[in-house]
Amino acid sequence: MSQIYIFLGKEMVDYIADYLENIRDRRVFPDVKPGYMHNLLPESAPVDGEKWESIFNDIERIIMPGVTHWQSPHMHAYFPALNSFPSMLGDMLADAINCLGFTWASSPACTELETIVMNWLGKMIGLPDEFLHLNSSSKGGGVIQTTASEATLVCLLAGRTQAIKKFHEQTPGHQDAEINARLVAYCSDQAHSSVEKAALIGLVRMRYIESNEELLMRGAPLKEAIETDIKQGLIPFWVCCTLGTTGACAFDNLDEIGEVCREFGLWLHIDAAYAGSALICPEYRVWLKGIERANSIAFNPSKWLMVHFDCTAMWVKDSTAVHRTFNVEPLYLQHENSGLAIDYMHWQIPLSKRFRSLKLWFVLRYFGIRGLQKHIREGVRLAQKFEALVLADHRFEIPATRHLGMVVFRIKGENELTEKLLKRLNHRGRLHCVPASLKGKYVIRFTVTSTQTTIEDILEDWNEIRVVTSELLEEMNVKIDRIKVFLKDTKEKSEAFGSSLLLSNSPMSPKVVNGSFAAIFDADEFLAKTYAGVRIAGLFFFKWVEKLISYALKYFR
Ligand code: PLP
Repeated sequence: MSQIYIFLGKEMVDYIADYLENIRDRRVFPDVKPGYMHNLLPESAPVDGEKWESIFNDIERIIMPGVTHWQSPHMHAYFPALNSFPSMLGDMLADAINCLGFTWASSPACTELETIVMNWLGKMIGLPDEFLHLNSSSKGGGVIQTTASEATLVCLLAGRTQAIKKFHEQTPGHQDAEINARLVAYCSDQAHSSVEKAALIGLVRMRYIESNEELLMRGAPLKEAIETDIKQGLIPFWVCCTLGTTGACAFDNLDEIGEVCREFGLWLHIDAAYAGSALICPEYRVWLKGIERANSIAFNPSKWLMVHFDCTAMWVKDSTAVHRTFNVEPLYLQHENSGLAIDYMHWQIPLSKRFRSLKLWFVLRYFGIRGLQKHIREGVRLAQKFEALVLADHRFEIPATRHLGMVVFRIKGENELTEKLLKRLNHRGRLHCVPASLKGKYVIRFTVTSTQTTIEDILEDWNEIRVVTSELLEEMNVKIDRIKVFLKDTKEKSEAFGSSLLLSNSPMSPKVVNGSFAAIFDADEFLAKTYAGVRIAGLFFFKWVEKLISYALKYFR
């Protein structure tokens, strides 16, 4: 076994390295029709084993033609699902060990490494200590779940357990099912469908709070909805605050929502599936303001942190309710250290768990915090470039603020235009995007995903979008007028006007579209925003700030 494994393993590693290295040459979106594989594979499994050679050759013949290449630099759909070699090697080892970490005793290293790396990661994103498992008396701690959907469900069920228990204590004499029927959970109308799914499974009502014009949920409408429900005899119990919505990467106001949850004693869960990775950069932690009032938070290192799928990091401040929800302890699962160490079977829906922490550990150690921060900032920088390109073309608009590595854009005018554009782009297969509907506006979501994406790739993608748009508008006989905006109006409309000129490396002219401006600059978003808030009082101050920024730019590069 070992000789053949070594030989074939090397062949597979070579194949994988070549696949990733040359992924640019492949069409990002496959050109196959549903059922394509049925014609290529037999109806039943082979009775006798086949030669490895023939299995291996079928990868290119049968599998690859139907693969959407998520690691391609031209993949801009959904959110990223990145991998990296330390991550893949970590899983290779985990697959070989193949232990099932349901209790500490079922594989102590599996449990202990998970607890430790979850503490590392929690510290990296700035979680308060209560969310960490620092010693045996800590109530909080982290666990790796399979997906953000599962984390949301676990936390909703834990919140439900807590609410039912509290109700029993205050008003004895009711059945659990009676109380359950009166429970209400809340999220924004922009929350991911997995939040709705959690409520469906938990058999609780879900109230959708209308997001504001910036597509985020604020405290006041949430409070109003809770008060209305209480008046109707319902029991509000759980709120999901999304940091980085799927449609537009908007951030609910955690601080305000946390205050409302505190006032009414509700479980507050934070779904930061994509954006959570960015919290390793201190400049993005403003979105975590109010975290101390949350009960649970989850994000997917499997999206943006180069730990390949599956890996969702979830923390709870007090694991008691989670335990109470999932605690079943048959004799065969008890061990002499029960109660002294974490038994993760009480923190999740399945009994068994993969040794996922190995890949996370490898990634955190190989790249280090600094390496991972650099990776996140590069993704944001490329998205800024793309945003600037879109804004410079008068035919397009960006109807929602760009946050992090995602830009939403559309052709001005009827939804049909953007819809047709997206279909055509995906059909041509040179880049891949998916749409979203933002308050009735059809938009294309463009996410910078791959670790291989360069500025040249972004320019190539933009050129593809421009060319296809021109063809489409000509065919449909649609003309989009250029709106002339005078410099004076520009200054009035954008407080930040001029700051990007200072931050630029090369002279350029600001492009004004829809009352905002796009200037192609290389500075970090953080610096741009910080500087945009500074008002220039005089020439001396002006010079001083210029100098400061030039130092800062040098430092941050
Ligand atoms: N929450 C948000 C905000 C998401 O964007 C997504 C998916 O992209 C999810 C939850 C679901 O993630 P998962 O596939 O890990 O369940």
